[in-house]
Amino acid sequence: MVRLENVEKHYGPLHVLQNINLTIKPREVVVIIGPSGSGKSTLCRTINRLETIDSGVISVDGKELPAEGAALARLRAEVGMVFQSFNLFAHKTILENIMLAPTKVRKISRRQSEAEAMKLLERVGISTQAHKYPAELSGGQQQRAAIARALAMNPKVMLFDEPTSALDPEMVNEVLNVMTDLANEGMTMLVVTHEMGFARRAADRVVFMDQGQIVEQNTPVEFFDSPQTERARSFLSSVL
Ligand code: ATP
Ligand code: MG
Repeated sequence: MVRLENVEKHYGPLHVLQNINLTIKPREVVVIIGPSGSGKSTLCRTINRLETIDSGVISVDGKELPAEGAALARLRAEVGMVFQSFNLFAHKTILENIMLAPTKVRKISRRQSEAEAMKLLERVGISTQAHKYPAELSGGQQQRAAIARALAMNPKVMLFDEPTSALDPEMVNEVLNVMTDLANEGMTMLVVTHEMGFARRAADRVVFMDQGQIVEQNTPVEFFDSPQTERARSFLSSVL
């Protein structure tokens, strides 16, 4: 579904992505973990060209990433992204936030879009909040709205970049539970997170990054119980 081959990227002298090779198969859940500054967000953002790359190939659903224009817009519609900050439009209700892209980009009617949006809000457990503005919701509810908004485009893959790290602890699980449901329903997902419990529970594969490189990738059981490298061992001992 997503394939990165020999991807390289520099920020000036900083070699932020070094020979990255990564494949995410349909229905697979891949969790990326690693220290701060290791390139996790940069890697995630290259997949829908929020960041350019210096060399290598990235493809989504068999199609190489177009550089710009309408083809890029179509491809971006297939890749849902959820960030640490919820990025909802403050002056629109939750329902309007979710209907915006489907009516503007997918060109579906307001009526159909509203019906789909309400279904998505039910799915993430916040249908009673549909007519409120983002500021009237808790952080966990806003993040669930952001997930519903991404799902409204019927993406083929969902990218999550630390979706729970801006939340108060009591709200983390309500968001992780929605993500776990999505994973169980067969959504293809790439998740950057520090939530090791989620990684253990939901990941098919854990990818460990350090200093711009993929150092290890393995099943969660293998990775957490018997990490192969000293770098992974020392990272795990600092977070577990
Ligand atoms: P964190 O866990 O803190 O979110 P990360 O693994 O997501 O870290 P990135 O945000 O991908 O790390 O950053 C990787 C490196 O690239 C860092 O050293 C960062 O300072 C640097 N970097 C990120 N964005 C830019 C930019 N636009 N210009 C220059 N350097 C950048
Ligand atoms: Mg990051």
